[in-house]
Amino acid sequence: MNFCSQCAHPLVFEVPAGDERPRYLCKACGAIHYQNPKIIAGTLPIWQDKVLLCKRAIAPRQGYWTLPAGFMENGETTKAAAARETWEEALAEVNVGELYTLTSLPRIGQVQMLYLAELIEPTFSAGPESLEVELFSEDEIPWDELAFVTISNALRHYFDDRRNNHFPTRHIDLVD
Ligand code: ZN
Repeated sequence: MNFCSQCAHPLVFEVPAGDERPRYLCKACGAIHYQNPKIIAGTLPIWQDKVLLCKRAIAPRQGYWTLPAGFMENGETTKAAAARETWEEALAEVNVGELYTLTSLPRIGQVQMLYLAELIEPTFSAGPESLEVELFSEDEIPWDELAFVTISNALRHYFDDRRNNHFPTRHIDLVD
């Protein structure tokens, strides 16, 4: 961040009075430009014994499989964001259920929230950010071609939990 978004003056990066960490400050208009983690919301969409995955058409991890998820927008709830992303990436309508994995990714400043969800019908196809969308049973999951560790964590927990028919929310800290 180089210039003030309110007055276009160059910014400095220093600790404001009464604060503890450096921020982007505008000495011209006094604005403090805080930077905070972003929320990624998505679903683990289920149809019968299968899970819906999307092959990514875009970087990062183009060509790898993921669960539908993306940046939450202002003005929406986390569940609404999860349903919207599922529609945009997989053209699939879901009933969003309980929060399943909540992952902190402090190194990249993200919090990822994945919800269990049920497909309303087995109807889906690739949205603009996906190359393919497919339902996978447990023994068909392309474990070596998953895009992100948050996705493999959620899928591994899901198939384990299914054996007990109990799906507790997992809080995961991915610190490295
Ligand atoms: Zn300013």
